[in-house]
Amino acid sequence: NADTAMYQAKKSEQDNVYFYSSELTENTIKRWSVENQLRESLENNDFILLYQPKVCSKTHSIVGVEALIRWPRGNETPIYPSEFIPIAEETGLIIALGKWVIEQAIEQLSLWKDSVCQELSIAVNVSSRQLYSEGFTEFVIGALEKFNIPACKLEMEITEEHLAPTNQEKTIKETLQTLTDIGIKISIDDFGTGYSSLSQLKILPISVLKIDKSFIDNIPDNKQNVAIIKSIISLAKNLNLKVVAEGVETIEQLICLREYDCEIIQGYYFSKPVSDCEIKELLISNSLSN
Ligand code: C2E
Ligand code: MG
Ligand code: MG
Ligand code: MG
Repeated sequence: NADTAMYQAKKSEQDNVYFYSSELTENTIKRWSVENQLRESLENNDFILLYQPKVCSKTHSIVGVEALIRWPRGNETPIYPSEFIPIAEETGLIIALGKWVIEQAIEQLSLWKDSVCQELSIAVNVSSRQLYSEGFTEFVIGALEKFNIPACKLEMEITEEHLAPTNQEKTIKETLQTLTDIGIKISIDDFGTGYSSLSQLKILPISVLKIDKSFIDNIPDNKQNVAIIKSIISLAKNLNLKVVAEGVETIEQLICLREYDCEIIQGYYFSKPVSDCEIKELLISNSLSN
């Protein structure tokens, strides 16, 4: 395969494209290798989910959890979702991987539900490739039924780039509408960093805005961030959307966000993403303190 890449680079050189770098080949080889390992791990069920709580800014009670995928690779160097999710998206593996995430998260919620907290909801991250995939809503409905979970307990986090208008726009709107009609909540993840089109907020059935961590860093010192956060919160309130602050790490940030009337907080200040057992402990102590 490296030879093929080399041959193609040479060939395009002849076609007057003077572009070849060994870095390119190295990246290509790395991607192939990650792709193959992803395929293998998918077959062997080698992924796990961690869970990060979403906390009420006023009462500090846990109102939901977000499932975040991890790829435990024994002694090999860890590969984080920011690296392998884009590869899974490009190769289409995200469809199978995403199904696993959704089913695993719903099953987990059904295990906690009886013992811990009836009100808890679970969020999964979803990419547009999944939303466009054949039979996606049917799959989700089937998974909810299988574990007897009401649709309103499931939230899907989608980043702005995945909500951007494309020539398939109709399908995404229709899919989101179908999901919303059965009760699933749709959040815009990393809000403010991507393709922020306010008209998308009007067109698409969105329930939650998650303010990206980059705006939360350095508040209250960074006045621009403060202005942006306040604007997002007031936009959300006026549009009747919930708002979550992501990546809250310090008490100072928490105090500010509470003052600005941000309802829900997520971040290392309360908890890093943790295993199913650890989150269960957190949920138990949470329900005892309420
Ligand atoms: P995201 O959905 O915006 O998730 C937030 C990321 O920030 C997570 O990184 C989380 O571990 C991290 N984080 C949370 N609180 C803090 C904090 O206080 N400080 C700092 N420094 N970081 C914090 P993670 O788990 O590495 O995931 C990265 C991204 O990968 C996610 O961003 C999401 O877009 C994607 N991802 C993760 N799991 C899945 C999945 O199952 N499916 C899909 N399609 N994407 C996923
Ligand atoms: Mg997310
Ligand atoms: Mg995010
Ligand atoms: Mg992100």
